[in-house]
Amino acid sequence: MNTVTTRVLISPPKYVQGAGAMRELGQHVSQLGDHALVLADDGVWGFAGETAEKSLADAGVRMTRETFGGKCTQVEIDRIVARVREVGANVVIGIGGGMTVDTAKSVGFICDGIPSVSAPTVASTDAPTSAHAVIYTEDGAFDRYFFGLHRNPNLVLVDTAYIANAPSRFIVSGMGDALATWYEARACVQARSVAMAGGLATDAALSLARLCWETLMEYGVQAKTAAEQHVVTPALEKVTEANTLLSGLGFESCGLAAAHGIHNGFTASPNTGAFMHGEKVNMGTLAQLVMEGSPTEEIDTFLRFSHEVGLPTTLAEIGLADAGREELLAIARAATAEGETTHNMPFAVTPGMVLDSLVAADAYARAYAKKHG
Ligand SMILES: [Zn+2]
Repeated sequence: MNTVTTRVLISPPKYVQGAGAMRELGQHVSQLGDHALVLADDGVWGFAGETAEKSLADAGVRMTRETFGGKCTQVEIDRIVARVREVGANVVIGIGGGMTVDTAKSVGFICDGIPSVSAPTVASTDAPTSAHAVIYTEDGAFDRYFFGLHRNPNLVLVDTAYIANAPSRFIVSGMGDALATWYEARACVQARSVAMAGGLATDAALSLARLCWETLMEYGVQAKTAAEQHVVTPALEKVTEANTLLSGLGFESCGLAAAHGIHNGFTASPNTGAFMHGEKVNMGTLAQLVMEGSPTEEIDTFLRFSHEVGLPTTLAEIGLADAGREELLAIARAATAEGETTHNMPFAVTPGMVLDSLVAADAYARAYAKKHG
């Protein structure tokens, strides 16, 4: 057990969300700098570029656009850092998915701490608000957490019209990432483990993690159906906020535990490559619940919700239908590597415990699916 007794909460100074919010990008960014390097891939630029460009120009912010290479890797970060220095930009904006915003945040930090802006166009992860980034290898496996950022993005701007226009799989995957927040926060508080924010959880952060879970339970299904119709509704707004803000503040200032550690283990298997972050996290959450000895009623609530919104709950549903004991053991070993958040659980976790939990979680979820159709 650690000897830290201080509580720490960190957050971005400004969060903006709504349909058409991209039109306000310039007015917010002009408070941070006058020359923005905008990182976005061509697909994102196709639907958001014109609005972003006009908004920045109207606010008197000069813009240099750079095409995102597709993955948040050290090579990509170094490339963008060189670009920022070359053009002399004094604010960096990432428009797109989790990897784009993580790259922009890392670049901002490395470039003498210039302000960074996250403008997610999907609600698939809680990356946009956090002060850390997930760095992947060139092959797409989890490499490491970049903890050195020390600072959340200066602005998080979410245009929910883009969130609604994205395939519904994104917001559903984000619900998987967000659903883990409360279970992991609870475990970290019980263990008195130190969160990414650098201290114990505040009651404020724990309340946000709990609110995140409640919001998903109340509005998750409605938000999914709205996303399928590509329309913005109050439920879609609420779930976007839960996936992006509540989950982000909750995990960062309460802590991650086995669900994300097991997710990182899954990324070690190339068979899970086609599945999104939150989809793999959801299977990790189920395994964490089993590992904790959670009551059947709690696990059934989790499974019912997952089925209703379409989140995976079996190994087959994340590409591991043919995974033998060896492959699962390799995943379990990666999930319990030194420094993994799996060790934030209130008890010691061995690879064998992760393996057993995965096998049991998978079998229980299959039986549950059979019973409930
Ligand atoms: Zn996550």
